[in-house]
Amino acid sequence: MSTATVSGICPECETDLTVPPVVTGETFACPECMLTLRVEGVEAGQLQLSMVEVQLRDWGQ
Ligand SMILES: [Zn+2]
Repeated sequence: MSTATVSGICPECETDLTVPPVVTGETFACPECMLTLRVEGVEAGQLQLSMVEVQLRDWGQ
């Protein structure tokens, strides 16, 4: 009936991603480029993904 996974495409490396159902706002790492992706929503079984800028701490002067 319903699919157990959803799919999307990494906006960075364009790898096809198939992941278990995720919640909007959840983040996961692309297995290819290791970029952190955030789920903006799911549309017709396709993940809408955006890149998350991971800020490295830079407290130095
Ligand atoms: Zn990627």
